[in-house]
Amino acid sequence: EERIPRNFITDIIDEDLKEGRVTNIATRFPPEPNGYLHIGHAKSICLNFGLARDYNGTCNLRFDDTNPVKEDLEYIRSIERDVKWLGFSWSGEVRHSSDYFDRLYGYALELINKGLAYVDELSPEEIREYRGTLKEPGRDSPYRYRSVEENLALFEKMKNGGFEEGKACLRAKIDMSSPFICMRDPVIYRVRFASHALTGDKWCIYPMYDFTHCISDAIEGITHSICTLEFQDNRRLYDWVLDHISIEARPHQYEMSRLNLEYSLTSKRKLNLLVEKGLVDGWDDPRLTTISGLRRRGYTPASIREFCRRIGVTKQENTVEMSALETCVRDDLNTKAPRALAVLHPIKLVIDNFGEDGVTVDKVTVPNHPEKEDLGSRELSLSKELFIDAADFREQANKQYKRLKLGYEVRLRHAYIVKAVSCEKDENGNVTCVHVEAVPNSIGTDVEGHKPKGVIHWVNANDCYRGQVCLYGRLFKVPNPGAEEDFLACVDENSKEIIKDAALESSLKNAKVGDSFQFEREGYFCVESKDFVEGAPVFNLTVALRDNKKT
Ligand code: ATP
Ligand code: MG
Ligand code: MG
Repeated sequence: EERIPRNFITDIIDEDLKEGRVTNIATRFPPEPNGYLHIGHAKSICLNFGLARDYNGTCNLRFDDTNPVKEDLEYIRSIERDVKWLGFSWSGEVRHSSDYFDRLYGYALELINKGLAYVDELSPEEIREYRGTLKEPGRDSPYRYRSVEENLALFEKMKNGGFEEGKACLRAKIDMSSPFICMRDPVIYRVRFASHALTGDKWCIYPMYDFTHCISDAIEGITHSICTLEFQDNRRLYDWVLDHISIEARPHQYEMSRLNLEYSLTSKRKLNLLVEKGLVDGWDDPRLTTISGLRRRGYTPASIREFCRRIGVTKQENTVEMSALETCVRDDLNTKAPRALAVLHPIKLVIDNFGEDGVTVDKVTVPNHPEKEDLGSRELSLSKELFIDAADFREQANKQYKRLKLGYEVRLRHAYIVKAVSCEKDENGNVTCVHVEAVPNSIGTDVEGHKPKGVIHWVNANDCYRGQVCLYGRLFKVPNPGAEEDFLACVDENSKEIIKDAALESSLKNAKVGDSFQFEREGYFCVESKDFVEGAPVFNLTVALRDNKKT
């Protein structure tokens, strides 16, 4: 049922299968373990794992760990967790580019032996300068024409720690006047005296991405290697490397557009800065569109998969509106989430005639979902004193106001029709208490002569859970923070509002991590997973209801 909609990559695969160029589809998802996964990665995950699912193929999880700078176990764990949480599983063991360091070294020797790679002793700055620009061709390094023997000896010396960082590197000998800058003798190995999370201190030379990726794909028998558009030119290098080493498998690289999402960052480096500067509450801050942030915010795996399905796979760069993501979680939770009553800004509502004839009901059994009977029902208790939201009462208001006003009637959700008769205020003039008269015998039925204009929610003031609710807005004040010179300055400090003392129906006290609810007339809320305390859940706003029903 959950299939990837047709796109240019499925067209390529279908053609490859039809022409017999491949028999089994093999893809991979290759994150660099230098941060947490974000919504952009979800697009790549849904595509790569989804293709494997749809074509009965395989998808590897491969950590692209050629850069040994950071201790990345935390990232590795989080990435594995996020992929699984999204509902996917990789084929066999987790792979690492570093698993292939020995073989990669062997292929580097092969290139040297074929006269197709040389050890360069220009500095990184000089290499950049010699490389030229789009308008002018590059210049040969003076070290370009060393003999094979000399190169073998120098590469050996590099491997044995005989060169300091930046004093030597291995470059592929391709074409210094290529219109593609990446083909102007790209660096394929560099010196780094850094301990690697998996290979420790075994190596002090590390292969570069362009050399590593294509060979790792070939070693794993990947058939369709999907990356983002900025690697389009690099496809030449991908093919060049595989053309010039003795490896049989022949993967092909295809490029799609990146996902750009309004009001969010899809760069691990920039996300990292937000975390480091303490502008957010960790990588899983509910305002971030990291996978872990979305999870903590109450997004469901199905809603993220559906989002990726809807945005599709193309070669056109574009920016997706945040509302597209929000719609997906709303649609999903609308069908799945039990309803509950929660008063975020409580004021008292006193039913003056409670206990009199026709106004004696003190509990009602209500369905947990308007359509899904299998979600069951629960009991709500009633008493003379309830809470309603401060925004649901006005002394006076025009006809558009469908909530409670003096002299008019409103229905209490699942309970009585009530008419406001008076109110009490504090010294600042804020209403603290509303007195109402309930219409006798009006629960669950119309009563002649009474036509309440609206429905408002409530909780029993004598039987409720006073808990904390966090309302989240957009983290950034601008739609494209990534394009700002100082995106850190675009963080909206008011994007998190904590309500310490909301009045929630008492059943919510027992909510557990993983539970989501529709707080009627407010939005979808989930239980905060961080520092969860049994019997004292905090609720996070996942997304508001589609239209502001509070008219
Ligand atoms: P970042 O700048 O966040 O580090 P990256 O592309 O370097 O991004 P990787 O860990 O290398 O991050 O990405 C793993 C895979 O996810 C790659 O195949 C990459 O193309 C893909 N990917 C990353 N970001 C996006 C995005 N915004 N849209 C689609 N695919 C993405
Ligand atoms: Mg990166
Ligand atoms: Mg990358």
